[in-house]
Amino acid sequence: MQLRFLPYTLALKHAFGIASNTRTSTPAMMVEVERDGIIGYGEAAMPPYLGESQATAAAFLEQTAAWLAAVDDPFQREEILPAIDALAPGNTAAKAAVDIALHDWIGKKLGAPWYRIWGLDPQKAPVTSYTIGIDTPEAVRAKTREADIYKIIKVKLGRDAATDRATIAAIRDVTDKPITVDANQGWRDRDEALRLIEWLAGRGVVFIEQPMPKELLDDTAWLRERSPLPLIADESVQRLAEVPKTRGVFDGINIKLMKCTGLREARQMIVLARALGLKVMLGCMTETSCAISAAAQLSPLVDWADLDGAVLIANDCFDGATIVDGRITLPDRPGIGVVKRESRG
Ligand code: MG
Repeated sequence: MQLRFLPYTLALKHAFGIASNTRTSTPAMMVEVERDGIIGYGEAAMPPYLGESQATAAAFLEQTAAWLAAVDDPFQREEILPAIDALAPGNTAAKAAVDIALHDWIGKKLGAPWYRIWGLDPQKAPVTSYTIGIDTPEAVRAKTREADIYKIIKVKLGRDAATDRATIAAIRDVTDKPITVDANQGWRDRDEALRLIEWLAGRGVVFIEQPMPKELLDDTAWLRERSPLPLIADESVQRLAEVPKTRGVFDGINIKLMKCTGLREARQMIVLARALGLKVMLGCMTETSCAISAAAQLSPLVDWADLDGAVLIANDCFDGATIVDGRITLPDRPGIGVVKRESRG
């Protein structure tokens, strides 16, 4: 099996602010695997604060390409993907790109979309939230109006309490839709965090994602005991082996292909989370429709989806899963369900 890769820069439609930084683009790497005249597509999206780059991805993918060239049977996902994971530590987005491309190739070779191979009902794909970054109240009001078709708004908080309250007030000037909050580890004091969560609970907020720094599990457990809203782990849980540590600390987990190495492990995390009684959210980075459509294949299994990554970029190079009336709509195409657009950006 041949593997090729090409650096690509995702241009964001709006500057995107979270608790720790603001950015206008996301480095990515597009990946193709090819055999028997069939091409499988994959993608690594690498927000710089997570530590991967086009250079680290290129180095890892060179190594992977050499390994894949000797693979006899590309259908042996359970042999191939753990072996690629073991080539080097980290590199979770680069590994996800390979995992997605291999899934796409296998699905195309079988002539079936992955939701069908897994036996899932595409009608159960959930609504997706639309994410609003940290910004001025005026910009937040404008973005809330733009989010017209979405049934749920996700908002980034966590820089300071005054901005947090002003942001929620700005959304509530425009709409009474449910809101989910992502603090991105921004709340450092548990008493202050509790006061803010109690205030948010009275304003139609559904849950809080990663309220406190990822290593403060004791403080988060304290907060969870008192919080009127469910707490969902994002930065605290990257991969399958970390799911059990959320017991008693969080009510659910946010799974992202770019941090868990792809579809194979994401599905295992969903199974384990369910066995532990956790809620499951499926999230994303800013990504093209390639990685979003891959994640969307799993979406019938989760409680909440936040798969708006492709909507937030101006140079999507794929057509794939779409959002119709706020709901994820899975195409009937094989593999991860994408078609490459004619060369753009
Ligand atoms: Mg998050």
